[in-house]
Amino acid sequence: MRADPSDYKLVSPGNLQAVVSLLANEPAQWLPIAGGTDVMVLYSAGKLPNRKLINIWNISELRQIEVLPDRIRIGAACTYTALRGHEIVSREFPLLAMAASWTGGIANQNRGTLGGNIANASPAADSLPALLVYDAELTLISVRGERQVPYRTFHTAYKKTALAADELIRDISLPRKFSGHFSHTRKVGARNAQAISKVCLAALGQILDGVVRDARLALGSVAPVPVRLKETEQLLIGNKIERSSINAVRESVMNEIRPIDDIRSTARYRSAVAANLVAEFLEKLSAEGTSA
Ligand SMILES: Cc1cc2nc3c(=O)[nH]c(=O)nc-3n(C[C@H](O)[C@H](O)[C@H](O)COP(=O)(O)OP(=O)(O)OC[C@H]3O[C@@H](n4cnc5c(N)ncnc54)[C@H](O)[C@@H]3O)c2cc1C
Repeated sequence: MRADPSDYKLVSPGNLQAVVSLLANEPAQWLPIAGGTDVMVLYSAGKLPNRKLINIWNISELRQIEVLPDRIRIGAACTYTALRGHEIVSREFPLLAMAASWTGGIANQNRGTLGGNIANASPAADSLPALLVYDAELTLISVRGERQVPYRTFHTAYKKTALAADELIRDISLPRKFSGHFSHTRKVGARNAQAISKVCLAALGQILDGVVRDARLALGSVAPVPVRLKETEQLLIGNKIERSSINAVRESVMNEIRPIDDIRSTARYRSAVAANLVAEFLEKLSAEGTSA
């Protein structure tokens, strides 16, 4: 056995206040566990540094999706299954619903949570490009109170986040302002199911009178953190999508990313695929995304 259960302590306080109190009383000692789909992989490999775990799976506040007039608020412990099955998420935030549908297999989707995907901070995490293009905002909670952090500033470096040792992600807010956009997402992995992304794109766009009015592009697995392609977006906005400009767009995509060689892929392949995915999005946007 690579990990002995008797070396670990698991508590299940069942309410948020008790969880944040434990986190505050012994900073960096307690590790929250939601669905456990990342934590248990480390545990069974004998690589889990923490010996004290707090269960947050059974805290009802973290499991709700609240629909407000201007945004939806997703509890951090909502599962991929809950996201996929939610009417407003599917209709207004299809990039997130799609990412949920291809995260692991069904068993994984029944346990894995959005908060866990964010806190685990993998650059290959599938929900994160969608959170970037939807301008997600995180609510972090501790005994000191709560604070709002734009998701785009949360992942600060490879596997590093803005979360303090005594904080928990409570919810993820998405403004309800993108339902008129054309959306497109692609995950490229070794196979269709149960594969970690080699490259993952989430994209939104709007065309009016033949001109790109808005373009929002984000990629996963091509840099130490998921990236928004701001320069490429600026190249597109205010212009028509023309065959002659696609090469400049491809080049811009490749300039904005920092892919690496690893066991799943090479930097060269990732660059080429990232450019292809954006080019594919533009083709579809130009054919199907015209709103007037
Ligand atoms: C077979 C398999 C396939 C997978 N496939 C994919 C895939 O295709 N795409 C993908 O992106 N991921 C995949 N994963 C990874 C994993 O399922 C996701 O990252 C999942 O979202 C993690 O959520 P969880 O609730 O299980 O996290 P946990 O394992 O419970 O926690 C993960 C980390 O997040 C922290 N954490 C959890 N919730 C909070 C919170 N509210 N506040 C602060 N910290 C918190 C924990 O302390 C821990 O450090 C896969 C995993 C497995 C085992």
